[in-house]
Amino acid sequence: MPLATVGAAIENEKLSMYEKFGRACLADFCDDWVIYRNLEPLDKRVPGLKQAFYDMELRSEQIPRKQDRDYAKAAVWFVNRIQQARGVSTPVNELLFLGDTLFNDGQAFSNMVSVGRWRGACFIGAERLDQEPTMRIEQETIYIANRWPALVDWIRMLKQQEFQLSANTAVIIDIDKTALGAKGRNDKVIDRARLAGIYRTMDSVLGDDFDKALFEKHYNELNRSRYHLLTADNQDYLAYICMVLNTGMISLDELINEVDSKSLDNFEQFIRWVNSRMMINPSAGIALREVHEAVNSSVRIGDPTPFKRFRRQEFVSTLEHMGNMPDNSSVAELLENEITITEEVYQLAMWLKGRGCQILCLSDKPDEASRPHPRISPELPPLHRALTHRVGADIREELRNA
Ligand SMILES: [Mg+2]
Repeated sequence: MPLATVGAAIENEKLSMYEKFGRACLADFCDDWVIYRNLEPLDKRVPGLKQAFYDMELRSEQIPRKQDRDYAKAAVWFVNRIQQARGVSTPVNELLFLGDTLFNDGQAFSNMVSVGRWRGACFIGAERLDQEPTMRIEQETIYIANRWPALVDWIRMLKQQEFQLSANTAVIIDIDKTALGAKGRNDKVIDRARLAGIYRTMDSVLGDDFDKALFEKHYNELNRSRYHLLTADNQDYLAYICMVLNTGMISLDELINEVDSKSLDNFEQFIRWVNSRMMINPSAGIALREVHEAVNSSVRIGDPTPFKRFRRQEFVSTLEHMGNMPDNSSVAELLENEITITEEVYQLAMWLKGRGCQILCLSDKPDEASRPHPRISPELPPLHRALTHRVGADIREELRNA
């Protein structure tokens, strides 16, 4: 048997622990309790950061990042207000947090239990089917597992520790690579949809001059931590920088020289550099100038998602990768080509909802990449109401007996 076939056979055997379930959406368990990067709840019964930052004890309406303490202050405030809005008199005193990254989700969780003075437990999932199943515990409350079905073991542990998992419990669920596109199982499709959005944006801004191979080269180079001072690990910044490099207005060598000599160490400097190059090079196209102006003015007001055009395109591409496969597709085909709902997360969330817990999807995904634009794509559903297949292990029976 050729090696590739053997590999595929092993892969298929590993996937045999998973089943496909029908189509569903995140709103089945979270309703409209969804909050994206701008910290403006979709359910308008609870106001957002812009209106309530003072009440949240934040200094300004500047949007904090997920690992900041200010983010936790806002999140705790939301949880308490949602509890009121859903008419539950029992105050929240327990927090469950489901995510896929220790740095972002783990930090947000730790900050939240500290700010809220709550009892809490966090589950970080990143599937590695090539490894033996393991679960390790960090800081006594963060469980890191290499299997998503390990959510059941986690719940068993919490029950032993006498977590109530009831109306007093808030459950925060990360979206990207947790509820959708499980990390290590289905997350590559999320990345592919984002890239498709980037390429479409570049096609529309740069037209025939867009060099995709060059873009990939620049992107892979600059997406590394040694450039984080310049890119702030922000995908909008990175896409904009690679777009500028693609026009040849500034070369990668020039940029690397500036970074190495420490004369370029933040994104605003880069924008000013582009500004001056554009002045001496009036041939830059209108579409490019428009993007440049839009990014420039968004960065000035502290907007962490300045490349709106790219993010709106990402939203369209993301929805094109949801529920796009026929119902008779195999598990392997679904995981390869569609952004699916993580079945274990879905079943756990439905079970917790049935026990009266508050369920909130909290994500630092940009709003523009998650909701339709009223003029550009009004016909599309918001991400949390888009139907797509559920794929994973069936843990319902085990949850009932936990
Ligand atoms: Mg995530």
